[in-house]
Amino acid sequence: MYTTRFAPSPSGRLHFGSVVTLVGAYLRARAEGGRFLIRIEDLDFPRCKAEHTESILKEIAALGITPDGPVLIQSECLDRYESLLKGLTARPDTFFCDCTRAALKVRPCTCRDKTLMEGALKICLTLETGYDDVRRGTLRTIAPLERDVTLKRRDGIIAYHFACVVDDALQGVTEVVRGADLLEETPVQRALIRAMGLKEPAYLHLPLAVHGHDKLSKQNHARAAFEVLPPAELLLAALSFLGQDTAGLKGLNCKALLARATERFDITRLPLGPLEAPF
Ligand code: GLU
Repeated sequence: MYTTRFAPSPSGRLHFGSVVTLVGAYLRARAEGGRFLIRIEDLDFPRCKAEHTESILKEIAALGITPDGPVLIQSECLDRYESLLKGLTARPDTFFCDCTRAALKVRPCTCRDKTLMEGALKICLTLETGYDDVRRGTLRTIAPLERDVTLKRRDGIIAYHFACVVDDALQGVTEVVRGADLLEETPVQRALIRAMGLKEPAYLHLPLAVHGHDKLSKQNHARAAFEVLPPAELLLAALSFLGQDTAGLKGLNCKALLARATERFDITRLPLGPLEAPF
């Protein structure tokens, strides 16, 4: 069954860019008659806060969006990641690395040829130079073919790519719908999925919301979307950003608005972007 997910990192409240991704993923799932799931990607403990998880979940509900299953919270799954990582350490393509970030900037890592027993856990992956995006067609990437990808950081934090592909598989995600800021990371995840023998999902990258040259993010002080607009207007703004037909939707409540937007959802109208955010 078609399944997608919205996977925010709770480093702040929802900003306009995250609302766009949320609405795009939700409508796509509904329009496909499939499932929409939520996953909280809160493994980067210094950046993520439980209070933000709480406000994000409240904000999603306030938009009239309900997931079709329990919310997966990554920080509650550490044992599962650790046991999978343990299994991976026996493979010849994984290795421990004790290089600091500063060192890696000035020389290549040679830890693969050593037999370290601790440090960051990495896997050597061979990346393909292209993949298909459901809206954008075949994308060519200029990536180095071989890349050492971190599975677990030196500070003990489980890395985003690893947790993401493991959980997409666990949640039965058939199509990853997310922002175009991750277009160039997708080949890394595809390689990791293949290396781990997981099922490959399809990919749909939504247009990125920007302010000038910067993507909206907590780091560059994007405003909390709910401080700017009430829920139904926020939905309308996200729909316009996604190029969808909003005629006659003004004044409807969130549930009615989403139902009508689902009927009209047209993937071919999704702009490729990036596009200037309204706020
Ligand atoms: N947690 C990631 C973010 O907030 C999204 C990851 C994904 O959708 O794969 O940017």
